[in-house]
Amino acid sequence: MITLKLKPKKEESLLRFHPWVFSGAIQHINGKPEEGDIVEVQDNKGNFLALGHYQVGSIAVRVVSFEKENINANFWKKKIEQAYLLRKELGLAESETNNTYRLVHGEGDNLPGLIVDVYDDTAVMQAHSVGMHATREQLAKSIVEVIPRVKNVYYKSETTLPYYAPIEKKDMYLIGGQSDSFKAIENGLQFEVDWLKGQKTGFFVDQRDNRSLLEKYAKGKNVLNMFCYTGGFSVYALRGGANLVHSVDSSAIAIELTNKNIAKNFPATDKHQAFAEDAFKFFSEKRSEYDLIILDPPAFAKHRDAVRNALKGYRRLNAKAFQQIKPNGIVFTFSCSQVISKDQFRLAVFSAAAEAKRNVCILHQLSQPADHPINIYHPEGEYLKGLVLFVE
Ligand code: SAH
Repeated sequence: MITLKLKPKKEESLLRFHPWVFSGAIQHINGKPEEGDIVEVQDNKGNFLALGHYQVGSIAVRVVSFEKENINANFWKKKIEQAYLLRKELGLAESETNNTYRLVHGEGDNLPGLIVDVYDDTAVMQAHSVGMHATREQLAKSIVEVIPRVKNVYYKSETTLPYYAPIEKKDMYLIGGQSDSFKAIENGLQFEVDWLKGQKTGFFVDQRDNRSLLEKYAKGKNVLNMFCYTGGFSVYALRGGANLVHSVDSSAIAIELTNKNIAKNFPATDKHQAFAEDAFKFFSEKRSEYDLIILDPPAFAKHRDAVRNALKGYRRLNAKAFQQIKPNGIVFTFSCSQVISKDQFRLAVFSAAAEAKRNVCILHQLSQPADHPINIYHPEGEYLKGLVLFVE
C-alpha cells in the first residue's frame, strides 16, 4: 500500500481523530497514488496513524479508519450497518409514519465524502470524493443487503464530484430502477421526491424536526414559507391548522412540487397558494398579512471568501421579514452555510432586527436533526442553524 509521511508535529490533529489530512502537512509520498486510492498515513517517524482516500487538492486524505485493517467489501458493509443501526435507534427507519431519513452523513458517520438519503424503497447516494465514487458499487450492494426495505439505489454525483477528476460522472441507478409503489412519508405526511430532476438528493430531510416545531406554532396563523422548495414547511403548517399558507420559490419546478405535495396531503384545501417569484421581489411589495414567516434560503456562502457578502444577504433578508411581519409574529429563520458560524448568523439576524426597529426575542435555537450527526472530532460537520423569533 502507498504510504504518506507527515511533517514533524503534523500528526496532532489525526491523534485527535480529525478525519482530514491537508496537503501542506505531507512530507513525502512513498509511491504514486491515483486519486481515490486507499493510502496509509504515518507520522514523521513512520508510525501508523490512519487509512484514507487520497485526494488531489487542499484536503489530501479523507480518513476512513484509524485502525490498521483491510478496507474491503466487509469493511464498507459494517459501516452501513452501523449507520442503519443509529437510524433504527432514532425511530426513523422501519416506522409506519416515517420512511424518509439520512442514512449516511459524511464525516458524521465516519464515511467522509459520502451522503445517502433514503426515501421509502429507494436510496439516493451522493459521492463528494473520487474514493467514494470508486467504492459506489460496494456501497450500493451493502445498502440493499443491510436495509430490508430498500430495493433501488440511485447514484447522483455528477455535480458533487470534483469537476477536474478524470472519471466518467454519470447519474444512474446502480441497483433496481424507478419504483412503482414508491411512497415517501415524513412524520405521517406524504411527499413527492424527485431525485432525477430535484435539487441535492431530491428532498431536504434536514428540516424534519424544525418542520414539526413549526406545525405547533401554525394554528390560526397566516404563514409565509419563503424558499419553499418542495413545500415541506407549508404541508406541516396546514396540518397544524394554519389559516392561510403562501409558498414562494424562484424555481418553477419547486412550485410545481409544492403544489403536488399540498394536493397529496390536503386535496380539498383552499388555504394554500404558491408563487414562483424571487424572494426580494416578493418582499418588495407591501406584505403585511403574515404572522408567521419561514426563511430557509440556499447557502449564501459556499466558501470562506463569500462570508462577508453572505452575512449582508442574511441581514437584508431577515430585515425584510421583520419589517413586514404583523405585531406579535413569529419568524423561523435558517442558514445552511457551513462556513458561517452560529454566532455570525445570530449577529446578522440581530442587525436585521435593529434595522427594522422591532422588539425581538429568541424562542428556540435550532440545528440539524439526529440523522445528520456531528462527529465530535469534526465540528465542521455542524452546518444548519436556525432561530425561532418572537417579533413584538
Ligand atoms: N425550505 C425548503 C428547502 C429550501 S432550499 C425545504 O424545507 O425543503 C432553498 C430554495 O430556495 C430552493 O428551492 C431554491 O430554488 C430557492 N431559491 C434560491 N434563490 C431564491 C430566490 N432568490 N428567491 C426565491 N427562492 C430562491
